[in-house]
Amino acid sequence: MRKLLIIVCLFIINKALAQTAVVPLKDKFVLVIHGGAGTILKSQMTPEKEKAYQEALNKALETGYAILKEGGSAMDAVEATVRTMEDSPLFNAGKGAVFTNEGKNELDAAIMDGKTLAAGSVAGVTTIRNPITAARAVMEKSPHVMMTGKGAEKFAQQQGIEIVAPSYFYTEERWKGLQRAKSEDSTKMQQDHTDTTKGISSGFSEFFYSPLGVGGKYGTVGAVALDRHGNLAAATSTGGMTNKKFGRVGDAPIIGAGTYANNATVAISGTGWGEYFIRLVMAKSISDMMEFGKMKLKTAADEMIMKRLPALGGDGGLIAVDKNGNIAMPFCTEGMYRGYIKNDGKKEVRIYKD
Ligand code: ASP
Repeated sequence: MRKLLIIVCLFIINKALAQTAVVPLKDKFVLVIHGGAGTILKSQMTPEKEKAYQEALNKALETGYAILKEGGSAMDAVEATVRTMEDSPLFNAGKGAVFTNEGKNELDAAIMDGKTLAAGSVAGVTTIRNPITAARAVMEKSPHVMMTGKGAEKFAQQQGIEIVAPSYFYTEERWKGLQRAKSEDSTKMQQDHTDTTKGISSGFSEFFYSPLGVGGKYGTVGAVALDRHGNLAAATSTGGMTNKKFGRVGDAPIIGAGTYANNATVAISGTGWGEYFIRLVMAKSISDMMEFGKMKLKTAADEMIMKRLPALGGDGGLIAVDKNGNIAMPFCTEGMYRGYIKNDGKKEVRIYKD
């Protein structure tokens, strides 16, 4: 009897120790970011502007790197990284977001945890300083995945997330971009035509968004990470597309389209003509090609971005990191603000096509 008691006690102690045992951190970790794709040409860039973009991208990378290096979670890293880009007026997210046809800034964002497949997003919000933080609150503090407009703003306020006046998001450059888009659209409207082979009337789509008519940049921001626990996460934040109308929501806050993370496969954040990313279910398609088609990340990402996206009439790019730390940053536009940093400190920031 005494022997049995000792065995039972030893069993319980052993189990308790196993539960509290510290799992050693892995060496490998990776962070990849983008600040939007589009017609980004060296010939159209001033040295000052190029330097400003490089600095902003480097700051974003260093922010996430510091978290990952200390063993922080991929979720914390992608949120903090995206926040720095939301706060920068250079990118179309948070401060510096593009304007809708009505002259407002309506922001979309999403975040996803590859470990649990938990996700959160907000769409069409106008007063939340950092929409990515609100998206995470939707994921962690509510039973929902997606909240829109006034409801999302009310929820964010209840959660103590910083609320700002809509005028906080204003930048003169984006305002001018809207005026240019409107005048280009009125010209295009006069030559409106319908191309049903693309599934969207091309005259119609130009009228709505002029994606490449306003300096040719999309400007969404995103981050994906593999942390030292082996977990993946993805985050995307955007002002959407210049001159958007009628409560339009893009791909960024749609889980599986512009944002997706799954520890079994990959974490992805996209930038580009959102309607096409939604129709192609871009990010989840790549994950499925890897999971069920046993494709490598690069093959799957190139197939979607370099072939299927342009074949449908869209354009853009994405960043991705797979469960083994392989990265991909394909785009079918002239350029994409992008960069990555790895555990050994290897860091690269790039803007143009090679
Ligand atoms: N994908 C975004 C959207 O369609 C735009 C962007 O990438 O800048 O809303």
